[in-house]
Amino acid sequence: MKLTVRSNALLRPRLESPTFRPRLSIRGQLTHLRNTVPPGARKSLRLEPCTRLFEIMDESLIECIHATCSPTACSLSVAKVMEAHRAIDSVVSPSDLSPVQVADIAITSLWLHAEIWRACVTHSFLSASVQTPDTPELRIQYPVEVLGKVAYLLKTLPFASIHGNGRGMGHKLLAVVAAANTVLDLPEPPEEFDGVRSIEEGKVLARQVSAVGQSLVKEQYIRWEAPN
Ligand SMILES: [Zn+2]
Repeated sequence: MKLTVRSNALLRPRLESPTFRPRLSIRGQLTHLRNTVPPGARKSLRLEPCTRLFEIMDESLIECIHATCSPTACSLSVAKVMEAHRAIDSVVSPSDLSPVQVADIAITSLWLHAEIWRACVTHSFLSASVQTPDTPELRIQYPVEVLGKVAYLLKTLPFASIHGNGRGMGHKLLAVVAAANTVLDLPEPPEEFDGVRSIEEGKVLARQVSAVGQSLVKEQYIRWEAPN
């Protein structure tokens, strides 16, 4: 499976529409750009997005995230899940990336962490143990903590760098919110989160991130670089 197909496979269920054929730009190729590039923006031909990140997300893992894997043939394990989490963490941004690319890698990494957590839910990998220092990603509260990190990035990164990633970014933000909300809306949600003070704060952050995501998914373009 090509990397573009792989990244699309994760986004497509949310992007599918009769008029929109999503493509993320991979390996320096800007593969899809609508005519509605914002005034003043320039097309960048040097977009090198999250190639390595999507190499980590192999096809079987994507099937497991979508719960379309065969129950009898599925080979997903806790070890494989943790390997993917650590591999995502090991991806570092080269220093010459544009602000749009930096935002892309930072948010995409967090989004993929949350997507892998979804596979852990459907594959019953979550740990009931409170003491899981080596596997924080297997805790029920993990997506709320991812949401906290995303909200922090939205506050600290230049908005143009988020906005420049277009509607694909919007769908990633909404996917993180949806994962966090499954926990926040539990009848008896966990009460302690790293980096998020309370359920109430988590719900506030969910609304804030959701608002940004909702505005971005209405954009007509995938990605653009703001002029320097
Ligand atoms: Zn599976």
